[in-house]
Amino acid sequence: MNNHERTISPSPRQMYDWNVLECHLGRVSEMSHGFLSAIAERTVAHAPSSFSLEPSLLNEEGDGLAETLENFGRDILPMMSASPGPRYLGFVTGGTNPAALAGDWLVSALDQNVASHGEGGIAPYVSEDALGMLLDLFELDRGVFGGTFTTGATASNLLSIAAAREFFAEKAGVIGAKEGHSALPPIRVFSACPHASFMKVMGISGVGRDALVPVVRLPGTEAMDPDDLDRLMTEAGEGVAKMVVASAATVTGNDFDDFSAIAGIARKHGAWLHVDAAFGLFARLSDRFRHLCEGIELADSITCDGHKWLNVPYDCAFFFTRRMDLLEKAFGVTAVYLSNNSGRPGAMSLGVENSQRFRALPVWFTLKAYGRAGVRAVVENNCSAASFLGRWLDEDDGYELLYPVKLNVVVFRGAFKVDADQENIELLERLNASGKVFFTPGEWEGKRGIRAAFSNWMTGPDDLKIICDTLKSVRADMRT
Ligand SMILES: *Cc1c(COP(=O)(O)O)cnc(C)c1O
Repeated sequence: MNNHERTISPSPRQMYDWNVLECHLGRVSEMSHGFLSAIAERTVAHAPSSFSLEPSLLNEEGDGLAETLENFGRDILPMMSASPGPRYLGFVTGGTNPAALAGDWLVSALDQNVASHGEGGIAPYVSEDALGMLLDLFELDRGVFGGTFTTGATASNLLSIAAAREFFAEKAGVIGAKEGHSALPPIRVFSACPHASFMKVMGISGVGRDALVPVVRLPGTEAMDPDDLDRLMTEAGEGVAKMVVASAATVTGNDFDDFSAIAGIARKHGAWLHVDAAFGLFARLSDRFRHLCEGIELADSITCDGHKWLNVPYDCAFFFTRRMDLLEKAFGVTAVYLSNNSGRPGAMSLGVENSQRFRALPVWFTLKAYGRAGVRAVVENNCSAASFLGRWLDEDDGYELLYPVKLNVVVFRGAFKVDADQENIELLERLNASGKVFFTPGEWEGKRGIRAAFSNWMTGPDDLKIICDTLKSVRADMRT
C-alpha cells in the first residue's frame, strides 16, 4: 500500500467499535432497559439546581464508545427526567410504547432517508403505508385526505399556512411559492384560541402575528363563537385572504370548536379551514368522545401529533389535507440529481425537510402491534384518569377545580384564602420537588393554577394513588 491508499482507510477507533458492535448494542439495550424498567420509581423531574454539567473540552483523540457509554451512564443518565413515565403530567407529553421503541431503534440502525421514492429502498413506501393506517385510525377517508409526516404539530401548523397560501394563490391565478406574498391579498387568520405554536408559524411564514383576527369565545370556554366568526369575516370584506384556525382540544380547557358550523361559515367566505388537533384528534377513537370531533373531516387541513398521544418517540407528527396538490406546489423540489421516475411526490416535496428520518416506522410498528383498540385504550385510560383526578380535587378542601374535565387535561389550584396566585406558584414548585409527579403551570380566567395532562400509555391506578397522596401531603405543609 502506498501513502495515498492509506489515507482512505476508516478511523481505527470507529473500526474497532464496529467490530464489537453487538457488544455495544447489548450495553445500550441494558442501559435503556434499566432506565425504563424503573421509570415509575425514578425521580420524575430534576430541578436544574440539582445537577451540573461541566463543559466538555473537545479532545483530539476520542475516548471510544465503551468509555463514552460508561461515562454517560454514570454522569448523565441518572439526571434524565422520567418524562416517558406514568406521572409526568406536564405539557402534553407522550411516552414511548414498546413497539414504537423497537421501531425507533431500527430507524437509527437502518438510517434510511425517506426524502423521495428514488432512495433505493422500500422505506418511503412504508411511510405511505403508515399514513394510510393513520387515516383509518382517525376515520378520515383515504380517498379524500392525504398526509405527510412532520417533526411536530408546530411544523404541521406551518404546512397549513403554506397550503392555505397556495389556495389563495390559486384563486389569484398565481403560484404563491413563486411570486410570494406580494402577489396575494393580505392573509388574515381567524381564531379564538390559537396554540402558541400557531402564533410562531404566523411569524416565520411571513404572514405575521398581527394577521390574527381574534374571534370571541363562547362564554366561559375557549371555544370559538361561530356567529362572531361569521360577523368578523363579513367585516373583513373581499380584499383579504381568509384562513380559519379551529381547535380540537385547546391545551388548558380541552374545548373543541363546532367544526360543522365553522366549516359552513368558512366555505361561505371562501376561507381555508385548518384544525389544530395535536392531541384532540384522538377523541375520534372513543365512543365517549367521538362527538367532540364531529365535522372535523370537513376541514381543509388538520394537524396531529404522534409524539403526544400515539406514544411514539420524539419527534413525530402528521399533517393531513384534502389538497395534497397545494402542498406540492408550496414545497415541491426540482433538481435533476433529485429526480426519480416513481411518478409520485416524495416527502421532500411535501414539507420543510429534504433529507428526513424514517419517522413513520415507530408509527407503523405501533399500529401493526396494537391496532385501533390498543391506541383507543390509551386514550380512554388517560381520560378516565383525568376525570378521576378532577373529582378528587373537587372534593378535597385544599384544592379547587378551575374548569370541568373534558378530555385528558385537569386545570386546578390550591384553595388559599390569601395570595392565591403566589401560593400556587410555590405549591407547584413543591409538588414538582417531591419527585413523585411533574405538573406545569396553568391559568384559567386570570387565576394562576396548575395543569395535569394525562397522555402516557402506562399511567395506572397505582399512579393515581401516588398523585393524590402527593397532592394531599404537599398541600398539608402549606398555609390555608
Ligand atoms: C403540542 C401542541 C402543539 C405544538 O406541538 P409540537 O409537537 O410541540 O410542535 C400545537 N398545537 C397544539 C394544540 C398542541 O397541543
